[in-house]
Amino acid sequence: MARTKKSRVLRMMFCDFCGADQGLRAILIRGRDEVHICDQCVAKCAEMVIEEHRKQELALEPTEPGDPGPTAGEAPTLGDA
Ligand SMILES: [Zn+2]
Repeated sequence: MARTKKSRVLRMMFCDFCGADQGLRAILIRGRDEVHICDQCVAKCAEMVIEEHRKQELALEPTEPGDPGPTAGEAPTLGDA
């Protein structure tokens, strides 16, 4: 098997979402295949996810046929069969 030179090369890491380099961003998180995301993009993504969840909750009908669902004021219980 041929060795790659990849491990010997020190590269400047940058966010693959906004393009900011490590010098500008305090935290870079590495994903698979050398993909990176910075802390600010993570925060932005978290906001988007929360917003999407909120939209989905609003889009849900209060009662679905055949599924009573959780009633208002009643929190779901862990381990409830
Ligand atoms: Zn970024």
